Amino acid sequence: MICNNITIQNNTLYFGGLDTTALIKKYGSPLYLIDEARIRHNCRVYMQAMRQAFGESALPLYAGKAACFKRMYEIIREEGMGADVVSVGEIYTAYRAGFPMEKTYFHSNNKTDEDIVYAMEHGVGAFVVDNVEELYAIDREATARGIKQKVLLRLTPGIDPHTYEAVATGRVDSKFGSAIETGQAYAITREALQLGGIHLAGFHCHVGSQVFDSEVFLRAGEIMLAFVAEIYRKEGYLAEELDLGGGYGVRYLESDPYIDIAANVAQVADHLKLTAASLNIPLPAIRMEPGRSIVADAGMTLYTVGTIKRIPGYKNYVSVDGGMTDNPRYALYRSPYTVLLANRASEPCDFVCSVVGRCCESGDILQENVSLPASVSRGDILAVLTTGAYNYAMSSNYNRIPRLPVVMVNAAAADGKTDYIAVRRETPEDVSRNDL
Ligand SMILES: *Cc1c(COP(=O)(O)O)cnc(C)c1O
Repeated sequence: MICNNITIQNNTLYFGGLDTTALIKKYGSPLYLIDEARIRHNCRVYMQAMRQAFGESALPLYAGKAACFKRMYEIIREEGMGADVVSVGEIYTAYRAGFPMEKTYFHSNNKTDEDIVYAMEHGVGAFVVDNVEELYAIDREATARGIKQKVLLRLTPGIDPHTYEAVATGRVDSKFGSAIETGQAYAITREALQLGGIHLAGFHCHVGSQVFDSEVFLRAGEIMLAFVAEIYRKEGYLAEELDLGGGYGVRYLESDPYIDIAANVAQVADHLKLTAASLNIPLPAIRMEPGRSIVADAGMTLYTVGTIKRIPGYKNYVSVDGGMTDNPRYALYRSPYTVLLANRASEPCDFVCSVVGRCCESGDILQENVSLPASVSRGDILAVLTTGAYNYAMSSNYNRIPRLPVVMVNAAAADGKTDYIAVRRETPEDVSRNDL
């Protein structure tokens, strides 16, 4: 199986040690499952690898946009990580979870004045500044409050991570950050060093997502360190922190490569230490911002099969009781997923079909060219694997479909609470609650 928290026993799919068909009976359909043990495992891989490779000053930040709800931040807090936040909603969620706000980093390529005030009021630790107008706006607010706001500057090292265009963010022509190549990075750094309300702590880059090639991080780190050294030479300013962003890939299909995060982090560390030594600068405290690789394989979505449509000579459709409202990623990016019949998980799969949702929209497809048992019929349980990242987070109420609940599983729970609700299922009243 693509992740070792998924097993098949007696023709039935188990997730995090629990019977998925029993869970859907207990909590209703459709349903997101998140395996708490798997999240903790993934957090520990980053914590241990980064501490070992870069020393005690290193800190992984969980990119909350991948899956943002209160329980998630409680787990991240308990695991000792920091967190990225990108909106007032994420800031509030972290705050409500009792997250140590000094360990939050506020991203976004367009922070409004209201966002800036909200973040400062809630004690957000660092702002990752995208552009010079935003830098001035933060300086104004910080000066008015008589504080020096810690900031990192987001720079674009000019790397195309060979992933999908829509999620490639490290290139010079990206909407994110200030480019090193064009001199804008140098200009914004000089500004930041002169502003009274700004404490420049260092630099940030994020080259993309679903990256399997560690070369991308080596190259980005190298370019960023060369910039740190250039600023040190010209301005006498030495960066305290260097944030390399997120982006390690996860396995959606059996055929996807497997990434050894610890080995990759060690490789990046070796390379950056050598680079820093050759540039004659100390290595800044390192940050990384994993999102997907913390939660994706900790998630699974369960649906109930409804209509099955066979169009002879054309194609077959299997409809489920969810769709692009709970997982828009196939509709948006043609993202691959592994799909299984949870209640007959070891039967031969020779029925090729498109798994579609129930929205009034032809693009409402969860996955095409899926192979299921030919006996698939109304009432069966369908599982989509690896949905922990960017599913709940990207869900919508299109067609006024209520959002799914998030149920946490933790077979090894010391208190015997092997499954519990982290986010309750929306009701039709919830969906209409803001209508006046
Ligand atoms: C999306 C994002 C991340 C997380 O990326 P993953 O691919 O989920 O690891 C980290 N940092 C920034 C700035 C991002 O925009």
